[in-house]
Amino acid sequence: MELIAIIQDIEPLRFRNEYSQASPVKGDVLLAYRGQEALVCLKDGAIDFPRFSGEPQPGAAYTYLFEISGVHYYLFENPSGTDTDGCVFQNVRAFRGAEPRHQAFAGITGWQLFSWYRNNRYCGACGRNMNRDGKERMLSCACGHTVFPKISPAVIVAVTDGDRLLMTRYAGRDYKRYALVAGFTEIGETIEQTVRREVLEEVGLHVKNIRYYKSQPWSFSDTLLVGFFAEADGSTDIVLDTTELSEAVWVHRSEIDTVLDGISLTNEMIMRFKENRVSDFGSEPV
Ligand SMILES: [Zn+2]
Repeated sequence: MELIAIIQDIEPLRFRNEYSQASPVKGDVLLAYRGQEALVCLKDGAIDFPRFSGEPQPGAAYTYLFEISGVHYYLFENPSGTDTDGCVFQNVRAFRGAEPRHQAFAGITGWQLFSWYRNNRYCGACGRNMNRDGKERMLSCACGHTVFPKISPAVIVAVTDGDRLLMTRYAGRDYKRYALVAGFTEIGETIEQTVRREVLEEVGLHVKNIRYYKSQPWSFSDTLLVGFFAEADGSTDIVLDTTELSEAVWVHRSEIDTVLDGISLTNEMIMRFKENRVSDFGSEPV
């Protein structure tokens, strides 16, 4: 088993997000959103989306988003009924684990772009209306202020000590399963410095042999997750930051009860350690 698929792994289909000012043609996919909800059409348990009828709806707006293997996806703003019969708004969280995978990925990626447009209607510098640029995914104001899509880098760190993996549970969240040390990159630091800082802050450990593993776009929180493996350096005594974590424990490889979810990078990294396949991804220490 070479790869464990996660939400953005849609091969053999191909995601292409080159910017274009194209207009929809009959049959193109329409992504419509309302707050935290997406307009989804369920067919035999598989998710699908409304399609463009060939005639624009009065008052609706269509913004090209991306392509998946020749199929074009448009942001569909101000939809009004008829073309969307049989489809319902549901929380975007439902895209976690939904099938087919490429439609789930399209749905959540479209929602990130929808949220970005919605949250940047006015200029943060002077308060005027923002204008959509014609050449790239950018918003600009007459005052000169420009805004690009928001992507916040964050690290996931699998801290290891021989056959033990440091596993955590987060305080004050619904998510109760074990996770790994994680945190956002702060202004002024490299991503490797984020790894060292977050591990020290959350569990009081120093790390060495930090190795990049893989990254994952995580549209639910405008995040680009960057996964690293690292080894505990010196003491392995955990000093827990209780404002962030409710628990952090060393778990022996043989006692990890996590099962593959096919969605998150955290899950894939835990599974890779559990199956003793950390050394075979071929990345150099940084
Ligand atoms: Zn402005």
